[in-house]
Amino acid sequence: MTHHYTVLFGGSVLTFDGAQPTDAASRAAGDPGVPDAAGRRATAICYAHERILAAGSDEEMLALAGLGSHVVDLRGRAVLPGFVEPHAHPYWEGFVAGMALVAGRERRAAIRAIPGATEHLDPDAWLVARYDPTGWDRPDDPTRDDLDRAIPDRPVLLAHVSGHAVTANSLALALAGVDAATADVPGRFLVERDASGEPTGIVRGPEAWDRFAGAMPPPTVEEGRAALACAAARLAADGVTSVADADVGSTAGVEAEMAAWGDALASGAMPLAVSLLPGLARIAANPGDPVPSPADLAALLPEGVRSQVRLSHVKVKADGALTTRTAWLRAPYEDVPHAGGPVHDPGALAERIRRAADAGWATATHAIGDAAVTAVLDACATAPAGTAHRIEHAMLLDDDLVARLAAAGVTAVVQPEFLAWAGPTYRARLGEERAARLLPFSALLAAGIPTAFSSDRPVVPGAPLAGVRAALRHDPVLSAAEALHAWTVAGAAALGDDDAGCLAVGRRSDLVILSGDPTAVPREAWARGEDGIRVEATVAAGHVVHGALGWER
Ligand SMILES: [Zn+2]
Repeated sequence: MTHHYTVLFGGSVLTFDGAQPTDAASRAAGDPGVPDAAGRRATAICYAHERILAAGSDEEMLALAGLGSHVVDLRGRAVLPGFVEPHAHPYWEGFVAGMALVAGRERRAAIRAIPGATEHLDPDAWLVARYDPTGWDRPDDPTRDDLDRAIPDRPVLLAHVSGHAVTANSLALALAGVDAATADVPGRFLVERDASGEPTGIVRGPEAWDRFAGAMPPPTVEEGRAALACAAARLAADGVTSVADADVGSTAGVEAEMAAWGDALASGAMPLAVSLLPGLARIAANPGDPVPSPADLAALLPEGVRSQVRLSHVKVKADGALTTRTAWLRAPYEDVPHAGGPVHDPGALAERIRRAADAGWATATHAIGDAAVTAVLDACATAPAGTAHRIEHAMLLDDDLVARLAAAGVTAVVQPEFLAWAGPTYRARLGEERAARLLPFSALLAAGIPTAFSSDRPVVPGAPLAGVRAALRHDPVLSAAEALHAWTVAGAAALGDDDAGCLAVGRRSDLVILSGDPTAVPREAWARGEDGIRVEATVAAGHVVHGALGWER
């Protein structure tokens, strides 16, 4: 039977099969068919429904086609494994997709334009939007006074694009009950105050959004499904076939978001492979609370979709962000006289990670500053042996921390596009010496640290190819094949998904078709953004989820 086979021929098939994370290690492994970290090459591939049957020469693959097969001439295009996005926020991405982003060059103009975003809102409705001060001429967060002047008569909440701070006008502060008497929670909820003790409107920390979201009408299940459908379309257009929500519950709470995921998966609105990482602070708020198991979380999904979802890691937070000066550093910031701080003190962090591991979870812990990375490594060392640990971001490193990461066997999930987005802000926060130590990709790979790329979208736009460009611009040694390995094989490994990331026989038919062979483009062209490589079609589990298969010459 050869019905329902799809054969793609006449192109470059980069299988990533047989590849090691670096070009040198891939060649050293001795298979002459594996020239670099993109693995074994072929010119054609055949899949049937959701499984890959074979990759090989045009002749071999065309011989498999029969009546009813779909045979497509790639006309020189490239086929790669669909990109794996091990750390994103799809619910939040879809939720904010239609909202204004207060950004641009001039701070004054950006704030003055905010009232334009209220056009389609009911008179009393909250205005919720995001702001990105990294490109402004004066990069100060907007204050309640700025927002009151722009919009005095409805609650306004702007979320920093990093998700690690918000700023509110007076009405929003009042509705959320935030005033001069509101207590800070160190590392988690920090109210900035003026000289007289009144809130300036800026609130930092991982619980800042939650406090205000709790005062808004909650999103409906339909809104949740629509948000996920929107995120799925954006991800598919960027070639992503496998996505992880790296903090389920962070927008609307765990129950509402799990219901939306269940609905989106059951209805087909979310056709990608999905991993859900519940926020540990959301499923076990206090250090002593019992931690629900992965099976407990799966029970929140309709039975029919449970097998489509990976529930293996919990998301833990050790610190904040460099852009909001909430990342935890060993030495003070360059531009303010403090060093940020931890979300949990080191003993409590270790206790949380240990309890999560005891409940059957692998951990994925957000740590950006060097002090936070150190605390996470210390904490992981006390968890039960055999627990898989990821560090999310791992931005500010030195040689000792790289060596410790390697010795600990921890996976680093890093975001190259952050550098393209906020490079000047990082230099202002850290000074040149420390900024030069951010995200040393090739040093991580050389040390043997499993390193997966991701975007943390919608913090940045998040296309994997944009991440490749940013990585090659930042790192003079990294190759395109190595960067793409980090977006495929390594991402699947970070999720514990051995069905994705590689076009080997029997794997899920998750594919991205690119306009040309990305490894044939000089790295300088990638670094300059002149590679000309585009996503032309995306196939998830055998279904075309973006573009179409079939090209004119
Ligand atoms: Zn994130």
